Amino acid sequence: MVSKAFNFQRTPASESSSSPSPPRCPLSSLLSMAAPTPDAVEHRRGPRVGLAYDERMCRHATPDGEDHPENPERIRAIWRELVSVGVTQRCTVLSAKEAEDKYVAAVHTRKHVELIRNVSSKQFDSRRKRIAKRFNSIYLNEASSESAFLAAGAVLELTEKVANGELDSGVAIVRPPGHHAEPDEAMGFCLFNNVAIAANFLLNERTDLGIKKILIVDWDVHHGNGTQKIFWNDPRVLFFSVHRHDFGCFYPAGDDGSHSMTGEGLGAGYNINVPWDHGFCGDADYLAVWDHILIPVASSFKPDIILISGGFDAAIDDPLGGCRITPHGYTVMMKKLMISVQGKIMMALEGGYNLNSLSKSVLACVQVLLEEDPITNSVKEQPYKSTWHVILKVRRELSEFWPVLAADLPERMLIGKGKPPTIERSFENGLALLGELHSLGGRLLRPREPGASPLVSSVGGGTISGASAWLGVGKGHR
Ligand SMILES: [Zn+2]
Repeated sequence: MVSKAFNFQRTPASESSSSPSPPRCPLSSLLSMAAPTPDAVEHRRGPRVGLAYDERMCRHATPDGEDHPENPERIRAIWRELVSVGVTQRCTVLSAKEAEDKYVAAVHTRKHVELIRNVSSKQFDSRRKRIAKRFNSIYLNEASSESAFLAAGAVLELTEKVANGELDSGVAIVRPPGHHAEPDEAMGFCLFNNVAIAANFLLNERTDLGIKKILIVDWDVHHGNGTQKIFWNDPRVLFFSVHRHDFGCFYPAGDDGSHSMTGEGLGAGYNINVPWDHGFCGDADYLAVWDHILIPVASSFKPDIILISGGFDAAIDDPLGGCRITPHGYTVMMKKLMISVQGKIMMALEGGYNLNSLSKSVLACVQVLLEEDPITNSVKEQPYKSTWHVILKVRRELSEFWPVLAADLPERMLIGKGKPPTIERSFENGLALLGELHSLGGRLLRPREPGASPLVSSVGGGTISGASAWLGVGKGHR
């Protein structure tokens, strides 16, 4: 089907979206700029892009104010960036509503939903920290319940509006993130799997909308283990994740993110993992994967809607990811999905911990959805040689399900730019290297050496000061 998102004709002013209802946000004075002006109305003749943001999701924080990469400033920084360049005026802005328990429980166990519903109540005050410790890389406070239900509700509502045609596309600026959350388990900063809840809602609750096939693209630097697990046997959902794997040592660790995990039963072939075995991957590497795996398969699948698990921790300068996607790289990745796959598009925030690259990258994606600037597909760098190896491995694994991947790639294409930099792995050398990197431009990169043995301290690939404390070694979910 051809979505209105890809019909570049302008809609008449009378059809333009209603004026945004301001989110509950201390930036409301800035948001007052969102009242329609002649200019804004003119702009809103373009694609109808929805934004979901709600200040209440900032109340979920570490219980004693400890520093943590997944903190309220992440979504505030994004919102400030969007407001500062006036993008919010050209979008339909929604505040969040809590998801109903029954929609969350369609993806998670009733026990898990009840735990998250109650964990912020007074009766859990004395036990909350102990409960959080039972999970992997989770904190909880008195606002976590509300934030989790708001995040799930915002993604669900925006997805529904894109699916029913009220909006052409949407971006949900939410936290806590979702893609690590499994049916019965919170993990990796994630309490509920927001994207999976929205996908399930469309497929099983709103069948009247005619959404029969959903593509989930997870470009967060970590594997979307929760989403994979939830749709493992389901051919209605094509799940694609490109992530650092580092031979099974990068969070969430284990084999789940391996390229050989392709789905089971009716879902066989509908789970695609592209695992990097080192950091430093940038625009050229991701776009090669787009061109030679994702876009060909997605074009064959023909999804009715695309949900993006939009983590931005593979962005340049991210302290946990160690990869190097630029805002421009994200725009090309988004644009290729828009023009090649012909589905409605909805993006939900997952990770991303460098406030500057996070906010700039999200802004760039919103601008693509608004079709504000022509996007040039110009990336000067070449992919790494190892990127071609991964692409070939994935194509071989998936070609029995997706004939479009069966053809050999031309030899001339497979000339990469060699190996990524290798780094001494010891703590002391890591510090020395960071010193060097700071002097070279202040980037906190700490990828593991390809082929190196597992090292707890490097899981997460983040800062020396404790990425492993934030994202510990996972349990190897299957
Ligand atoms: Zn992540």
